[in-house]
Amino acid sequence: MYPNLLKPLDLGFTQLRNRVLMGSMHTGLEEHKEGLGKLAAFYEERAKGGVGLIVTGGFSPNFRGRLHPFSAEFSKTKHAKAHKVVTEAVHRQGGKIALQLLHAGRYAMHPFSQSASSIKAPIAKFAPSEMSNRQINNTISAFANSAALAKEAGYDGVEVMGSEGYLLNQFICKRTNMRYDEWGGSYENRIRFPLEVVKAIRKAAGEEFIIIFRLSMLDLVEEGSTFDEVIMLAKELEKAGVTIINTGIGWHEARIPTIATQVPRSAFTWVTEKVRPHVSVPIITCNRINTPEEAEKILASGQADMVSMARPFLADPHFVIKAEQNQSQMINTCIGCNQACLDNVFKGKRAGCLVNPLACRETELVIKPAETKKNIAVVGAGPAGLSCATTLAERGHNVDLFERNDRIGGQFRLAMQIPGKEEFRETIRYFANRIDETGVKLHLDTEANYDLLAEYDEVVMASGVEPRKVKIEGIDTPEKVVDYQTLIRDKTYTGNKVAIVGAGGIGVDVATMLTEPSGHNLDDWLHEWGIDKEIAHPGGLFPYPDSMSEKTVWVLQRRKGRVGKGPGKTTGWIHKRTLEKRGVNLLGGVSYDKIDEQGLHISVDEKAQLLDADTVVICAGQESVRPFENQWHLLGDKLHIIGGADYAGELDAVRAIKQGVELAAKL
Ligand code: NAP
Ligand code: SF4
Repeated sequence: MYPNLLKPLDLGFTQLRNRVLMGSMHTGLEEHKEGLGKLAAFYEERAKGGVGLIVTGGFSPNFRGRLHPFSAEFSKTKHAKAHKVVTEAVHRQGGKIALQLLHAGRYAMHPFSQSASSIKAPIAKFAPSEMSNRQINNTISAFANSAALAKEAGYDGVEVMGSEGYLLNQFICKRTNMRYDEWGGSYENRIRFPLEVVKAIRKAAGEEFIIIFRLSMLDLVEEGSTFDEVIMLAKELEKAGVTIINTGIGWHEARIPTIATQVPRSAFTWVTEKVRPHVSVPIITCNRINTPEEAEKILASGQADMVSMARPFLADPHFVIKAEQNQSQMINTCIGCNQACLDNVFKGKRAGCLVNPLACRETELVIKPAETKKNIAVVGAGPAGLSCATTLAERGHNVDLFERNDRIGGQFRLAMQIPGKEEFRETIRYFANRIDETGVKLHLDTEANYDLLAEYDEVVMASGVEPRKVKIEGIDTPEKVVDYQTLIRDKTYTGNKVAIVGAGGIGVDVATMLTEPSGHNLDDWLHEWGIDKEIAHPGGLFPYPDSMSEKTVWVLQRRKGRVGKGPGKTTGWIHKRTLEKRGVNLLGGVSYDKIDEQGLHISVDEKAQLLDADTVVICAGQESVRPFENQWHLLGDKLHIIGGADYAGELDAVRAIKQGVELAAKL
């Protein structure tokens, strides 16, 4: 079924069991007090699930290269000893694992940061100091020392982080390297540092050790590398002794999305494909690859020798084994939302996964067979109810799942209709298959009531939410006013001028949906974000003009301050930038006066304004749906309330699915 994906890769001195790399991802466990034990369990589960080669999160080769003051370092014998628990766990399952060596350079969030030149990064707090010749040589030795220690710890190799705008990338590009010595100026000089790092690692770790170099093939920042330069570096890396080249796309400071769900699947594999003919070592591609079908297509078409996926292994540790067993429809697909993984990590919290609450909690949240088999009713087949019902049934309970609509999915069914959020469909597909697999009895078109539920041993209320009703004079004008649920579900017609009341995640989503150009394909998407497919310009950027929408859309909120960012820490800026590019009007500090045939009357700073909207869409948050609430007390201790039915404020799918699984684990 996936002959290319599942084909072993011979590296000469060692063999990988398939073409799947679990890409590097910081989990937050690296710095946790008992983190290495938890990391061992995390990686062991993925190795058991069949992945060919795992790359750990980034570890700094020295003190100054740490990303944060307390970020993990790998530079001493004690680190090598402590990491043995990780490598042994992976090897026990027949897997292989490489340690990522990452020097943050000017991205370090502490005052000891260093770089090629003293130029502060737009996303950093501190300006780095310029590295002296001695410091550069010491850093090369530090990389070599870490690699030798990694070998001692049992790692099968290292990945040298040379992309995403970290230290080595900072030496490579003119943008950040203003030196006049042997480490700066010409391209040959600027690539000297990464090449010396690779040579020193090869010397220290010997021939039979995997060295992956993560090469920034498309910087997506001004004064980034040109395509010719990327090719020159790739060839020199091969001569310096790398085993595999991995693709890096975009610096962290780039203002172009590269992995969020809005990015089309496999949006950047063409970059790897351009580089591949110029080298003879295997080459890995990555970014927004999340299904075996997608990965197989890439490998079959010769774009790369391996595919890297990171977040998909948070979502489903058994991705590869399910593909091997022809069970890809049972894969819990990563939807690219970033809501529980990167958003958490960027807030200094442990990574998790929206669709898989067990990720990074393998030793804490364990699903065991139930001691006593019970009859359990779950009301509501949205994310909370689905995760709860299927986990309960997996544990051996008899589960009836009642849903008042004619299909499952709840709020996810709305989300999947937003352009760029189509991946939510995969979660519904996954749960539909899990219902069959676990034997949950699903009752659609069934309104739950007390009489129906009274005899069950346990009742889980996951009845969800409905749009909040707001009070504005004239709001009861069905021909002019519509709530977001009706608009998205029924694809209600809107005029060319639309005012959106509410600028939370859903207000922003609705504005995106209304202004989405029709027939948007990958090339249109690259064009919209100014990405030059020819890489004729440094960094791969091209100044495309913004494509204004034909619709006039206002997104409004009562709060003053920033409008249109939505809730996501790592994705909010993408939403805002998208709306700005399309000419959407974002207004804060608004009070709503009335709606009439002229449009929406508002006041801003006590000045009255008329927005001559044809349609007003209400996106003002949610209220809990609590059917027959006046009888809930009769259910006593056997009633459990989860998801939006429990708390509608900050309605959040991460919380809903987590609550569902956590409750199911203990009933
Ligand atoms: P929300 O984020 O709570 O936003 C509700 C909006 O309505 C706010 O802008 C609020 O602003 C306004 N509002 C609240 N009460 C109002 C009232 N009585 N009259 C007029 N305006 C009112 O809710 P949401 O947009 O429905 O999103 C719900 C949740 O879904 C989010 O919290 C998020 O977790 C999730 N979500 C996430 C994403 C994502 O991309 N990560 C996308 C969509 C949804 P003012 O009070 O300032 O007017
Ligand atoms: Fe993927 Fe979202 Fe899970 Fe992150 S939280 S791994 S993006 S599904």
